[in-house]
Amino acid sequence: MNILAQCCGVLLLAVILYFHSSQKKIHLNTERAFMGIWSLTFASLILDILSMVLITYSHVIPDIIVKIGCKAYVVSLVWVGMSCISYVCADIYEGRQLYQKYKEWFTLCAIVFSVVIFCLPLYICKKSPSETYTYGPAANVTYGLALSVLLVLGVLIHKHRNKINADRRKVMWVWMAVWLLGAVLEFISIEIFHSALLLVGYASAVGIIIIYLRLENPESNLDKKTGFFNRNALLLYIRQLLNSDEDFYLLCMSYSLGVGDNVPAEISEVISEEIFQFISNFSGTSVFRLTENEIVFLFLDKKEKERVYQELSERFEKPWGRDSMRMVNPRWYSMDDVRMVKRAEDCLNLFHYISQSSTEGRVSSENNDYISIDKSVMKELYKEREIENLLTQAMKRDWVEVYFQPIYSTSKQKFVSAEALVRIHDETGKAISPGVFIDIAEKTGLIVKLGEMVFEKVCRFIRDENPIQYGIEYIEVNLSLIQCGYEFLAEDFIRIMKKYEISPQYINLEITETASLDEKRMLQQNMQDLQEFGVSFSLDDFGTGHSNLNYIVDMPVDIVKFDRGMIQAYFSSDKAKYVMDAAMHMIQGMQLEIVSEGIETEEQYRTMDELGISFIQGYYFSKPLPEKEFLEFIQREAGEGSHQ
Ligand code: C2E
Ligand code: MG
Ligand code: MG
Repeated sequence: MNILAQCCGVLLLAVILYFHSSQKKIHLNTERAFMGIWSLTFASLILDILSMVLITYSHVIPDIIVKIGCKAYVVSLVWVGMSCISYVCADIYEGRQLYQKYKEWFTLCAIVFSVVIFCLPLYICKKSPSETYTYGPAANVTYGLALSVLLVLGVLIHKHRNKINADRRKVMWVWMAVWLLGAVLEFISIEIFHSALLLVGYASAVGIIIIYLRLENPESNLDKKTGFFNRNALLLYIRQLLNSDEDFYLLCMSYSLGVGDNVPAEISEVISEEIFQFISNFSGTSVFRLTENEIVFLFLDKKEKERVYQELSERFEKPWGRDSMRMVNPRWYSMDDVRMVKRAEDCLNLFHYISQSSTEGRVSSENNDYISIDKSVMKELYKEREIENLLTQAMKRDWVEVYFQPIYSTSKQKFVSAEALVRIHDETGKAISPGVFIDIAEKTGLIVKLGEMVFEKVCRFIRDENPIQYGIEYIEVNLSLIQCGYEFLAEDFIRIMKKYEISPQYINLEITETASLDEKRMLQQNMQDLQEFGVSFSLDDFGTGHSNLNYIVDMPVDIVKFDRGMIQAYFSSDKAKYVMDAAMHMIQGMQLEIVSEGIETEEQYRTMDELGISFIQGYYFSKPLPEKEFLEFIQREAGEGSHQ
């Protein structure tokens, strides 16, 4: 009897079943579809062996039983083929209702073909023990069908190549090639060598090994350290649930141990172990480890979520560690309405965004350790993303424009400088203010490039339009904290000034105070290099709470800019008036100039003038203006004279 290949196939499948069943899984659709292929291939191999046994002993077994056995094997191949298509579709449609619909169709097709094949004649060839096989219309239709399945698979994989990742696609092609090779060898052996090498069943088993090792090994969804599921598994699972009707709930726990808390590495390791051990005892939830100290719990039942949170938070009220000495205070981020996100990745981005924003105090909640993520937070995230895209577009397409706001000198009674303020445009041409995008530009690091673009535009403006001829002595350009701490700031800016042949005396750079010592050191280095080249500096936003007088002493600035908020407070509070008077006298005592920002009324202007403030900037004179309007403004003003 020629059943060696089939027996090897059964053995291979048994080994796969052993490993697969002993591993932790999250019940993804592809996992289920894989088990579908496994069971049908296994059944088909057993039927193959059975049919060979029946044929071998056909002289003692009734003809009808032999025929039924052989046809059952041939029909099983149809089901194996359909299960393969179903597996690929599970990947493409990721649990969408469409997938369920297709599955019903495949089952129906399999039933129809099974009936057809069962009704067609099938003949048995039993020339010798090595030349035992079946042939005839039923076998031919099955061969034809197997080829069509391969063709459909090929078309599906190729057509939906954007939905199946490249790695998976490659493995699927190899799997199909193995199948095809098995069928071709079987055909050649029968037709040419008259010795039936029945390899199709064995090739299917090898195909399953390939899929198991490369695509369906549950090990690849596990976090090596904890045995929890990993980030990739969470993405796959959320994606599948989002495409289904099932409700689900997420709870993210983030805690910090180690460097920032001065906990020695060995101790933090022990505590982490203890926490992971405690978490692994929970049932009713799937646990995922996102990053070192970030765990996500996924629930299909809301009550379970509340129970697990309750038990976990109670445990965290007690200390951890061998000596029971360390308290750990996790932050919790809960998401009940997960369907408000569009993509699985957005869920994880949300957790990241919220955890950042809450540490920076931008997201508030009654209990700062437990934040419930709702639609408003979501909206914020999508808005940020939109602005980031817009900013990237604007920078790529040069929709970046610099406006200029004139600055008036009270002693010279004319406009002597201007502040350059960036604007970006959207597709409709509408100008967007920096208040909307500077934060995001800083967070994404785009600010360095944007700052360079602005500086280049200012230099080009000075060279091409020569505002100096209308009395403008220098232009103030804002620097963000990120730029100030950027290693190559001085080098880049000096290069740009040289490129446009701009004398550095026409440039004044506005810096703001930084709390970080590293940034401050870098800024001092940059300032030193730029000052040696001839550039002057202002301290912006004085009086916003970040500023202290020490900073003015430490930093070599020539001008201090009083923030609009401070000026407003001056007119509404006696205390603020006192503070501003004192600060003003000290700054003037250091021989520094002062710019009052945000002057909107004549009364404010007169008061500042009487106080001896050197420069005035604000809507009272002019809002920030586009290049052309600014030029017209200073031309007109240069002609008209003072504002008495
Ligand atoms: P800032 O440097 O303190 O600039 C002054 C802001 O106050 C400008 O807002 C200006 O339009 C506004 N302003 C001036 N006078 C008045 C007034 O009388 N009333 C009122 N209500 N507002 C007045 P803008 O242009 O929206 O810029 C906001 C901030 O964005 C700037 O504050 C600056 O920190 C930042 N920024 C602007 N352009 C740039 C840039 O090119 N690079 C960097 N890094 N930051 C920039
Ligand atoms: Mg400024
Ligand atoms: Mg300012």
